[in-house]
Amino acid sequence: MSKRHESYDVVIIGAGPAGLTAGIYCGRSMLKTLVIEQSLVGGLITSTEDLENYPGFPDGVGGEELTNLFYDQAKKYGVKFKFTNVKKVDFSEQDKIVETFRNIYHAKAVIIATGVKPRPIGCKGEEKLIGKGISFCSTCDANLCIGKDVYVIGGGDSAVEEAIYLTKFARKVTIIHRRDELRAAKSIQQKAFKQKNLEFMWNTIVTEIKGTDCVESMVVKNVKTGKETNIVPREGDKDFMVFPYVGLEPVTSIFKDEINMEEGFIKTDEEMATSVSGVFAAGDCRVKSLRQVITAASDGAIAATSAERYIDSIG
Ligand code: NAP
Repeated sequence: MSKRHESYDVVIIGAGPAGLTAGIYCGRSMLKTLVIEQSLVGGLITSTEDLENYPGFPDGVGGEELTNLFYDQAKKYGVKFKFTNVKKVDFSEQDKIVETFRNIYHAKAVIIATGVKPRPIGCKGEEKLIGKGISFCSTCDANLCIGKDVYVIGGGDSAVEEAIYLTKFARKVTIIHRRDELRAAKSIQQKAFKQKNLEFMWNTIVTEIKGTDCVESMVVKNVKTGKETNIVPREGDKDFMVFPYVGLEPVTSIFKDEINMEEGFIKTDEEMATSVSGVFAAGDCRVKSLRQVITAASDGAIAATSAERYIDSIG
């Protein structure tokens, strides 16, 4: 099958907060813009039920609700969207190539906004039970937790926020954290410590998760004493649920031969320029210290403005 060629001023890869904001800014600058997204609009934040720190929403806002507003705004400015996987890129020439299954897109500038995905725990037995009792999305799978015991792994903002959310559905939620102090923001911690059906298992790591079609048991180890414990469902239950929230990893592998990275995160300057002229990166996929919707949106705005300036410079 021969592929169809299409040309754009800017191709944005990823439709999370960074990519959508870049789209809004490119669209408003009258640049012919395409956003390519491999799954759903909004990115990882759509799995957050209540976003409490995005300015302008004193009562909080759902991640999906907020990014749908970004999406509508981008479409209003004429930005086109394609929902497909990027298979290959070639940034070696001034004419940048972004290839999908059916199309070859030519762009004067590319903005990479591919974000991050949840990092697995990496313990024995985990991989085969993903989707069978191990879930990376509490909003998607909360209904499977009704009346059950739930274990959330990690001590950061995600783990603690999602654990609080799951207390609404589960009989009991236990946070298993490898230290005796949470990494999560103090305001989130305060909320967690007030929850009646939320407990903590400190200084503990998960070494193995066992089961065939569901999680039947889990081996944990106290890192201070070395003692191993086999957690089993309580009497009358056949299983329990496990939600790993042990951090995030960048979705950047297809760019690894094209641009400079640090541990998989894309290196940029303050203008969001990567090591390749005409290629910019925005949001969680780049090296940065604060990964939030507001900083992703900010990156997107800067990347779009830089892309516009770059396109003007090449004439
Ligand atoms: P994170 O901040 O990197 O925290 C990961 C947690 O998992 C840490 O507590 C870490 O322990 C633990 N961990 C890492 N590897 C582990 C392993 N192999 N086994 C057991 N535990 C492990 O990740 P995150 O919570 O997903 O947050 C990612 C970013 O998104 C952060 O910048 C965060 O602030 C942001 N975020 C913000 C909000 C919000 O503002 N409302 C909500 C969610 C996320 P240690 O603490 O010992 O390192």
